[in-house]
Amino acid sequence: MSVLSGTPPVSSDSSIATDPSNDEVIIGLEIHCQLDTSTKLFCGCSTDYRDDGPNTHVCPICLGLPGTLPKVNKKAVEYALKVAKALNCEILEESEFARKNYFYPDLNKGYQITQYDRPLAVRGYLDIEGEDGEKRVRITRVHMEEDPGRLVHKGGTDRPKYTLVDYNRAGIPLIEIVTEPDLRSPKEARRFLNKLRATLEYLGVYDSEKEGSLRVDANISIQPRGWFEREGKGKADRGRAEVKNISSYKGVEKALTFEITRQKNAIRRGQKLESATRHFVETRGVTTASRSKEMEQDYRYFPEPDLRPLRVRSWSDKIVLPELPDARKVRFIREYGFSPTHAATVTGDWRVAEFYDNLPKDLAVSAATATWIADTLLGELNYRDMSISDVPHGHFIELITLIRKDTITDKSGVEVLRSLLDQLKEAGSCEKPSECVKRLNLAKTGGEGLEPVISEVLAEQPQAVSDYASGKSEAFNFLIGQVMKKTRGRVDPTELNRVMRETLDSRGP
Ligand SMILES: [Zn+2]
Repeated sequence: MSVLSGTPPVSSDSSIATDPSNDEVIIGLEIHCQLDTSTKLFCGCSTDYRDDGPNTHVCPICLGLPGTLPKVNKKAVEYALKVAKALNCEILEESEFARKNYFYPDLNKGYQITQYDRPLAVRGYLDIEGEDGEKRVRITRVHMEEDPGRLVHKGGTDRPKYTLVDYNRAGIPLIEIVTEPDLRSPKEARRFLNKLRATLEYLGVYDSEKEGSLRVDANISIQPRGWFEREGKGKADRGRAEVKNISSYKGVEKALTFEITRQKNAIRRGQKLESATRHFVETRGVTTASRSKEMEQDYRYFPEPDLRPLRVRSWSDKIVLPELPDARKVRFIREYGFSPTHAATVTGDWRVAEFYDNLPKDLAVSAATATWIADTLLGELNYRDMSISDVPHGHFIELITLIRKDTITDKSGVEVLRSLLDQLKEAGSCEKPSECVKRLNLAKTGGEGLEPVISEVLAEQPQAVSDYASGKSEAFNFLIGQVMKKTRGRVDPTELNRVMRETLDSRGP
């Protein structure tokens, strides 16, 4: 078996080859998210470690020194129970921590405190917009565990000169969410993760913008259609790949897309895919084989003797959930008159939904504002790989107001927005929208200012003018386009149309 990068572990077996059009993709996910508590899961160390030096947020407990005892962070359990409830899970009467034993330098104690046969919750679901309409993705289980430390390989991961270990991350509370293999495409996987991220952020238990706060393992295989329903989980007609440690939302879709192509190619060649663990190399967008035999080991799980079982069901009964994405979507349609598509876009991201809810009421109820946020603003942010939290709220209100008051045109509004976002991206701050309008000379010109520009254009384009006179209507649009170009979109299109028509018609045939 080859372990070379990108080479699938294959053996030839032509009997496996079937009609590829009858195949379907089977995807299941295991998602680890850091719970956004202020202290670690079993000690009082601060979780705000990202800007600090290595090994500065540690104590005898999270360093796993002999003689220390862990103490459960109640806030972390409460956060985890909120997640389990929001994912419609059955909460167990009692839940228990367990030791997962393995030896690795990022694990100072020689074991990780996690949950095994008595997790917090099981059998939940999350509804998403699937490829063929609304889809229910089943959740197998939700459990808590501690994050291990972080290894820093000096000189690259392939052949590091040496490796440093930083235990600041050791003991950060994680929630692990395992889905049934219900997803059928990378796009569905992305939609599921987006919905999950939104749900966790609505709950206020997770911050997706913190570096390293997400890690996903994805199971993926390609099977003859209907096979999965017949045979069920745990069996693989054709082998499946487990892609480990994908650390970004975009990465999951990329890794899955790569895997599908790789597996389809192997199937087409009549090769038998073996089940294997693979790693996603984000920089190259590929998955590579890992030495799977070394990964398979017996973790010798046993109940953590230093922690008592948690009575989680009665605890969860007292927890009241806040408004979640689906409810907010319904409210935005009702309260602000959103279209279902815009409502889904805006409420699909907690930060965007909050941003919108905090707009002055008269702006919020306008369809133009909804379109601006859902299409223009989010599009421009996405293009620059920025987030809504990078935009000062007041600046945006000012910009929308300038458009609504007809001080600038919609088109100029986009220009101002682009300029402001570029400044923010570059320098972290930006001028006020009104200053930008002045600097770029974008204030809307009324009918009176138009005439000189129109005369100029007509003088430059005698051919188009005579085309118009001979009844060619497209010449009119061409001339309008020329004025727009000269005025860089500052003029009101309706007004321009009117004045242009008047000017041309007054010239006669
Ligand atoms: Zn500690």
